Amino acid sequence: MTERQLFQQHLAPTSTEPMAFPVSRAKGALLYNDTGKTFIDLIGGISVCNVGHCHPAVVAAIQAQAAEYLHVMVYGEAVQSPQVQYAALLAGHLPPSLDCVYFTNSGAEAVEGAMKLAKRLTGRAEIVACHNSYHGSTQGALSLLGDEYWRSAYRPLLPGIRHIRYNNREDLQQITVHTACIILETVQAEAGVVAPDPGWMLALRQRCDETGALLVLDEIQAGFGRTGTLWAFTQYNIIPDILLLGKALGGGMPLGAFISSHDKMQALADKPVLGHITTFGGHPVSCAAGKAALEALLAEQMVESVAAKEQLFRSLLQHKAIKAVRSCGLMLAVALESYEQVKAVIGYCLNTPGELGVFTDWFLFAPDCIRLVPPLVISEAEIKQACVILLKALDQCVGE
Ligand code: PLP
Repeated sequence: MTERQLFQQHLAPTSTEPMAFPVSRAKGALLYNDTGKTFIDLIGGISVCNVGHCHPAVVAAIQAQAAEYLHVMVYGEAVQSPQVQYAALLAGHLPPSLDCVYFTNSGAEAVEGAMKLAKRLTGRAEIVACHNSYHGSTQGALSLLGDEYWRSAYRPLLPGIRHIRYNNREDLQQITVHTACIILETVQAEAGVVAPDPGWMLALRQRCDETGALLVLDEIQAGFGRTGTLWAFTQYNIIPDILLLGKALGGGMPLGAFISSHDKMQALADKPVLGHITTFGGHPVSCAAGKAALEALLAEQMVESVAAKEQLFRSLLQHKAIKAVRSCGLMLAVALESYEQVKAVIGYCLNTPGELGVFTDWFLFAPDCIRLVPPLVISEAEIKQACVILLKALDQCVGE
């Protein structure tokens, strides 16, 4: 059997049409397969590989930590240097009220932890989320998901969840003294890159302060420089009560985190103890990799390069088939007429006749948009080459 056949036989599917894309090596912003074809990666593992695939410092940190120790004890009992050092580094780059990190296995687990923390802190049960939001696929995170089509198959879900319209002032009144927290993406990713109105963000913060509801910002996709600043929330002059990180947090290794103040986090430690339990959360190898990735992101000034690269994409993506380009840093949505067009373009880019292809994708709630979230290290030359192929794909699939 070929590996593709083994994939089809033994790996549980997530869709009827997986890309089944064979990858043999990845470096920087490039992916390689075993037939000698190279792909410019415009997805970066869906906002994971911000510092590029296999950054040498990340690989070295993984190797060094793997030689020291792997798993030793469930989260929260042993003093593990990679966890401690990484939490301290994160705290050093966050406001003082976000100085305490709970490391998890994944983004969804961080979301679950934040919901639990908000319930414990406020003694309230209601949670507010936004339409067109995505926060993960576990049952709690899925209850927050802002689209009935995607969540309806799993009812009953968590009770007490209400959805409001992102960027809608009137709907902020639905945050009340019964609300434990509102959870939202600082920039909505799966909605097809929808940025908040700065005035709305300020009003949201104010409404949370008035009602005692906690503000939880999900920067699982938007964090680590993706939107042009290290954290997206700093662009809106607000500070969340709980910040959610994942994806790029582990530098390519699995890792998530919910972050709050030292005082607030005490709520999980007592009455009952063990307010959130995870065996592998904060795995030492993941923390070592994540710390090395954040250090590289800062030392190599990758965040500072984001705005110019965003503009380069925007200036090159000119085609009559493109209806709009929405972007927040290197998170771009290229809107076409339909999902069929998007699918054809993605397919063309993967199966280009030449030795160079482009790896791209679509969005859950914006199927008429092509998703571009490349590693932040993508070079100008790679952006230009990728756009040539994208435009060619539009010519071929949609027409000149
Ligand atoms: N939050 C956002 C904004 C995400 O995009 C995702 C994943 O795509 C998650 C949460 C869930 O993260 P994970 O897939 O690691 O559970």
